[in-house]
Amino acid sequence: MLTLVESVCSICGRGDRGRFVASGVDFEYHTTQDTFHVYRCCDTLFLNPRPSKEDLAKIYPAEYHAYEFSAEEYGIAFKARRWLEGRRLMRWCRGMPTGASIVDVGAGDGFHLEILRKVGDPTWRLVGIEPAVRAASVVASRGIEVHNAFLEEAGLADESFDLALMIMVIEHVPDPVAMLDEVRRILRPGGRIGLITDNIGSMDARFGSTRHWGGYHFPRHLNLYSRDSLRNLATAAGLEVVELKTMVSPVNWTYTVHNRLVDRGAPEWATGLFTLRSAPALSFFTALDALAAMTGNGALLRAVLRRPR
Ligand SMILES: [Zn+2]
Repeated sequence: MLTLVESVCSICGRGDRGRFVASGVDFEYHTTQDTFHVYRCCDTLFLNPRPSKEDLAKIYPAEYHAYEFSAEEYGIAFKARRWLEGRRLMRWCRGMPTGASIVDVGAGDGFHLEILRKVGDPTWRLVGIEPAVRAASVVASRGIEVHNAFLEEAGLADESFDLALMIMVIEHVPDPVAMLDEVRRILRPGGRIGLITDNIGSMDARFGSTRHWGGYHFPRHLNLYSRDSLRNLATAAGLEVVELKTMVSPVNWTYTVHNRLVDRGAPEWATGLFTLRSAPALSFFTALDALAAMTGNGALLRAVLRRPR
């Protein structure tokens, strides 16, 4: 059993107004036997109660995908993702000056920073923030500057960065407004944040809304947003919204089917067809989500936020 703590809505700060919407278990990594519950408030979803900070090492096991998304393990999915993410990262970096500073908050194994080192301007300073020891050591072994700490403990100077990446990280954080406040503090005036998170208004979210949706990622996703509530979150942290769109991703689709199969006691060969290692599932759901994204209901939210000048 994990130690659980009460949580509140990240927008209104209250825990008592949420409407129960879902419950589930750790379908993906089986790190705990606990059942978790999700509540809706202010057009966000939040896990209540949530695991305590002391238990983070238990719920992020060594084989966690963000820590070792390597070519050897994931093959074609890795290469496709690296190419797509390289394009997206460079779009966010457009207009970045010579000698710009870029911080990746929740850097994982350094996947994004490594891409920027290859395709970006060689004068850029690249910094990773990663609280998980093992992941941070992988970033360091790539020769990239990394702080093995939570952002607020990393001791970064005021107004020292031009761009902050927050890719699939805000949903893991107990207090997203506090985290965005901290990111705003370390950005120069006019500095930007490139943020990606799960979309509770997506088509895939509707298929597993009461239990199996991959976006719940029980018990690791603590706060989840729609397009509207992500905008409200940014505003609450004193940031301007430059761009806010949905984007295609097969991951939550794949997990949603996987979790449904796990819950029904399906054999391992069947659940194994729906993982991040499964190129057929990832290809099929990428095509399906492309249709969803055309109508503004893609699996992920992609935002560019800016610290006001
Ligand atoms: Zn609320």
